Amino acid sequence: MSSITFHPAGASHIGNVRTTNEDHHLIDGELFVVADGMGDRGHGQLASRLAADTMRTAFAADPTAAGLVEAVRAANITVRDRADADPELAGMGTTIAAVARVDERLVIVNVGDTRVYLLRDGVLTRLSADHSRVAELVRAGEITEEEAATHPERHLLTLAIGTERTVAPGVNHLHPAPGDRLLLCSDGLFTEVPEEDIVIELAAGRAARPTCEALVAAARANGGHDNITAVVVDIG
Ligand code: MN
Repeated sequence: MSSITFHPAGASHIGNVRTTNEDHHLIDGELFVVADGMGDRGHGQLASRLAADTMRTAFAADPTAAGLVEAVRAANITVRDRADADPELAGMGTTIAAVARVDERLVIVNVGDTRVYLLRDGVLTRLSADHSRVAELVRAGEITEEEAATHPERHLLTLAIGTERTVAPGVNHLHPAPGDRLLLCSDGLFTEVPEEDIVIELAAGRAARPTCEALVAAARANGGHDNITAVVVDIG
């Protein structure tokens, strides 16, 4: 029995420029997933859906912290095997970020640059670390966060689902508190909307669904160059 309750909502938009929406999100009980697919001719759409669905099935079979990490590995193998089996699908892959409740804590896993944020007491914290070229440069002190947002290599991932046979996801844990608000989002949100504006939308006192819609609208208003996906989870 858990005393934690979740009130989740999600929104996704193709954006203003792209011809397909290769983002995918999934809310399944106490599992929340956002994936951002990549591939030629819209095959990223298949990769993001395949990965999220595989994670759901795998985590349902083993709903533990180790099971969530294993679910990412299962998603990786599933996408990789599918790409290997069909030359048309070569090169497809996806990022993934997921949060699940395990007992009284939250387990956070991520691969690539799809992010998980926590809003607690009005302060926004990142619960995931990007696997990207610019994130490495920021960690090395070579560029600032502001420079990363416009860097020519900002879309270059150093880790993704489906590109190698093995993957080691980032893993984090959180002891949730009532009033916490989580945001899972694709890069189409945070590259268009700076974190100081994300925090304003998250703290505006709206329920999860209108908050997701406001975040997507803000990303579109700022250019909408990529697909935009936001999942907001209120913890009570
Ligand atoms: Mn994207």
